[in-house]
Amino acid sequence: MSRENLARIKMEPLLFHTQASTSSRAPLNFRVLDQLIRILAGRSLLPEELAGLMESACLGEWQSDWKRYVQAGVCLGALQVEPGMEWVSRKSWTGSIRHTVKCRRCGTESSREMGREFHFLRKIGRQVLRFFAIGEASSRRATIPSMQDNSGHQRAVNWSMCKECGGLCAYCEECLTMGRIRQCSVLIRGDPAWLERANQHGAGELCKEPDWGHWGLSPAQKDAAFAGVGFLKATAARSAVVPADKLRAQPAGLPRFLIWAVTGAGKTEMIFPLIEYELAHNRQVLIATPRKDVVLELAPRLIKAFPECSVVSLYGGSEERWSRGQVTLATTHQLMRFYQAFDLVVIDELDAYPYHNNPMLIHAAEGACKRSGRYVLLSATPPAALAKEAARGALACVRVPVRYHRHPLPVPKRLVLPRVEQMLKQGRIPGKLRSVLADSLRRGAQVFVFVPRIAWVEPLVRLLGKTFPEFAVKGTSSKDENRRDTVQGFRDRTFALLVTTTILERGVTVPKSDVFILGADAALFDEASLVQMAGRAGRSKDDPAGRVFFGSREWTASQLRAIGQIREMNRLAGKKGYLLESDQPDRRRE
Ligand SMILES: [Zn+2]
Ligand SMILES: [Zn+2]
Repeated sequence: MSRENLARIKMEPLLFHTQASTSSRAPLNFRVLDQLIRILAGRSLLPEELAGLMESACLGEWQSDWKRYVQAGVCLGALQVEPGMEWVSRKSWTGSIRHTVKCRRCGTESSREMGREFHFLRKIGRQVLRFFAIGEASSRRATIPSMQDNSGHQRAVNWSMCKECGGLCAYCEECLTMGRIRQCSVLIRGDPAWLERANQHGAGELCKEPDWGHWGLSPAQKDAAFAGVGFLKATAARSAVVPADKLRAQPAGLPRFLIWAVTGAGKTEMIFPLIEYELAHNRQVLIATPRKDVVLELAPRLIKAFPECSVVSLYGGSEERWSRGQVTLATTHQLMRFYQAFDLVVIDELDAYPYHNNPMLIHAAEGACKRSGRYVLLSATPPAALAKEAARGALACVRVPVRYHRHPLPVPKRLVLPRVEQMLKQGRIPGKLRSVLADSLRRGAQVFVFVPRIAWVEPLVRLLGKTFPEFAVKGTSSKDENRRDTVQGFRDRTFALLVTTTILERGVTVPKSDVFILGADAALFDEASLVQMAGRAGRSKDDPAGRVFFGSREWTASQLRAIGQIREMNRLAGKKGYLLESDQPDRRRE
C-alpha cells in the first residue's frame, strides 16, 4: 500500500461514525484490510453476512472493527458502500411525481407511492418511538395497516418501526429469505477488478483449445458445444479491446447465447467444454439453476471433470457459503450475494419456475455478471420472446434437436376423450384409454398420468386402481409431503402407474416410461409444459421409443404447437444426420 493511499484514508470524510472504543483507536492492520478487500471482491453483502465471511476467512478477530476497515477499503476505491434501498422518483403521465422505494439487492419496487401520507406516518412513528422505549415498540414490528394492499396481501416492500434507525423504515419482503434488507441497511460491494488482479497470476499459461475428445459427446452435443465456444471466443475479444471499466453496456445488453436443446439432450455435458475454455483463460464461471437437487447432482460431476479447479456449490443451507471457487454452482436466489463477479453466467432452464417472469431473479442474474461478461442460456422450451429473437437472428442460438442416444423424440398421439370430471363422475375409464393404458402396462412401462388439477389426483388414483387391480397406482402433487419418496418408489419400479400434476413435468427421468396427459386441452397446459411432459418418455437408450398420448375433448393451439415443435426437432435431427442409421426417416419408409 503506497504512502499516497494512506494519506487519502485520513483525508476522506467519515462514512460511519464509529464510537470510540479501545479497538477502534488501534491502528488499522493493513494485512487484514488487504485480505478483506480480496475476499469481498465481486460480492454484495449485508453487514451480517460480512461478519460470516470474515469469520470464514479467519478475520473474526477484527469483526467488531469492520466499519473502519470497510471505510478504509472505500477510500482506496476497492469497496463501495451503498444504501440497501433507494428512493425512486417517477413522473406519471399526468405530470405528477411518484416516489417509490426500491430494493437494491433484488430490484423490487414498492408498488404504491409514498406521498404525504408517508411523511405524516413517519413523523408519528418517530414520536411513538420516542414516547415508548424504542426496543419495545420495534419488537412489535408494527406494520402500518393503511400501507397494505386492500386485498390484505403484504406488498413486496413493507414498512415497520425500525430498531436500528428509530423510525418508520422500509424493508424488502421479496428477498427476505436472504436476510432482511432495510432502508437504513447498507450493502457492501467489492470491486470485481481486485478479483482479476488476484487471478492474473499464471494467466495465459493454460490458453489452449478445449480438448474435444475426452468429453464423449454425441455429434449434436459436439456441434452445440463448438458453437458455444465460438461465441465465447468472439465475445471475449470484445472485452479485451474495451477495458472492463469503460464498458458501458447495460446488463440487459450483454452478449447472450441460447442453447435450445430438446429434453434428454444432455445439456450439462454440452457446457463442459465451455467451462473448460473459460477456465483456461482464468475466468470465473457461474452456473445458476432453479433447483437444489440439480446443484447437488451436478457438483460431483463437475469436480470429477475439473479436478484441478475449485468448485463451490451454493444453495439455502450450503456449507460452502463463503468459499470462492473458479466454478460456482448456485440456485438462482444465491446470485443476490454477488456483484459483477462472473465472466460467464450459465442459466439453466431459464423458462422454469422460479426464474421465468421473476424480475427479482433476472435482476440478480444481471447483477452477478461482469460488464464484460456474457450469458449462456439453456432451455428445452424457451419463452416465446426468446424464440422469436433467435429466429430473427437477434440472439445467437444453437439448436440441439436430438437426444444423447440419437433416437428421435416420441411424437404425441391424440386420444379423443370425455372431460376428466366426467370420467370421475361416471367412475369409469373410457374403453379407448383403458386399452392403450393396458398396452403400456403389459409392455412393462412405467406410466405417468398427468392431470391439470391437484384435486383430481386422488380420485383418479382410486379409479385407475379399480380399473387395473393387478397394478399398484399412486399419486403425487405439490401438496404431497412425501413426494420425494413417491418419485423414488416410481423410479425403483415399486409401482407402475403414477398420477401427477405439472410438478413433475421437469427433472424426473424414469427409464422405460410412457406418458398420458389427460385434460390436455386445459389452459394450464401450454406448449412448453406439454413438450416437457412429453419429454418424460423415451429417455433411456434401452427404450427410446416411449409412447405419449394427449387425451382431450378438443384440439387446442398449444397441443398443435407442441406436436409441431417435436416434429420440427425430429426433422432437423434427420436433416443434420444426427439420428442413428436405423432411425433415419427415409430408411423407415422403405
Ligand atoms: Zn429485495
Ligand atoms: Zn431502519
